[in-house]
Amino acid sequence: MIPSPFDYLRPRTVEETVQYLDEAGEDAALLAGGQSLVPALRCRDAVPAVVVDLSEVEELRGIRVEDDQIVVGAMTTLRRLATDPIIAEHAPLLATAARLAGDRRTRTMATLGGSLALADPAADLPTAAVALDATLLLAGPEGRRTTSARSFFVEPYTTALGLADVLVEMRFPTRFGWGAHYTKVCRTTPGWAVVGVAALLRQEDGVVTDARVVFTNMGPVPVRSRPAEEALLGARLTDAIVGAAADAGADESEPVDDAAATAPYRRQLARTLTRRAVRAAAGR
Ligand SMILES: Cc1cc2nc3c(=O)[nH]c(=O)nc-3n(C[C@H](O)[C@H](O)[C@H](O)COP(=O)(O)OP(=O)(O)OC[C@H]3O[C@@H](n4cnc5c(N)ncnc54)[C@H](O)[C@@H]3O)c2cc1C
Repeated sequence: MIPSPFDYLRPRTVEETVQYLDEAGEDAALLAGGQSLVPALRCRDAVPAVVVDLSEVEELRGIRVEDDQIVVGAMTTLRRLATDPIIAEHAPLLATAARLAGDRRTRTMATLGGSLALADPAADLPTAAVALDATLLLAGPEGRRTTSARSFFVEPYTTALGLADVLVEMRFPTRFGWGAHYTKVCRTTPGWAVVGVAALLRQEDGVVTDARVVFTNMGPVPVRSRPAEEALLGARLTDAIVGAAADAGADESEPVDDAAATAPYRRQLARTLTRRAVRAAAGR
């Protein structure tokens, strides 16, 4: 189908973008990689009067190290995340999640900002952002503000972004000495996660001193599994401990039943994937 007519704007700065969005109100849509927006325009699920293209906004581009943080511009593509040496060295979980997202064509176009702003519960990058304790920089009519990835995701397809807000960049703490892994099960490969699990671990002398276990598609937003993390903390990673953590995470989760999977099946996937992710994060 042909999209309904719209005005096309291509700002060069974040401030100009916010101004366009503010003027257009509910009638505006932001265009990043276009992987979700363009099909929605074609099906006329989205009928904006104004499309604001982010491709010329220089500030939204690039990956850099600043003090002890990796700063990733919102327009960074998933392909770049999957292949960038800075990401590989300092935030390998992000690279793994990006590598598993969609097919090559999608990864070449889709952006980290678009992925987080879309907030699809089956998406991989939001889970990585929560697991890595990312801080997000948003710009809006009232100026700039930061929010944690955990408070950014409100419900499926709903975030802390206001109507005239732009996601500018994401900051990921560098995590020297942590092991990390992300894995998922899809109905088809490549595909969206039926369930995904991110695991991050820090060990000293064989004992787990810090842990993050975060689930994809086990709730409306990425779910941090405190029961799984608590089962790992202070322990040596025997098979029994990893199994206990996987059981605790799965048993205390509240997944949904939907067309992709039943809740009991999701719990079983979470159990299996947690075992795999924790073992891989520990280098076992
Ligand atoms: C065939 C296919 C398979 C996919 N498979 C996966 C998968 O397996 N895993 C996965 O995680 N994802 C998957 N995706 C999603 C994809 O990775 C992108 O996350 C998604 O398409 C949106 O990114 P985009 O850059 O294309 O954004 P767009 O489509 O351009 O925009 C999407 C939405 O985000 C908003 N937006 C974009 N950028 C910003 C910004 N900087 N500030 C504020 N709002 C913004 C737009 O207003 C729009 O509403 C898939 C997509 C497709 C088409």
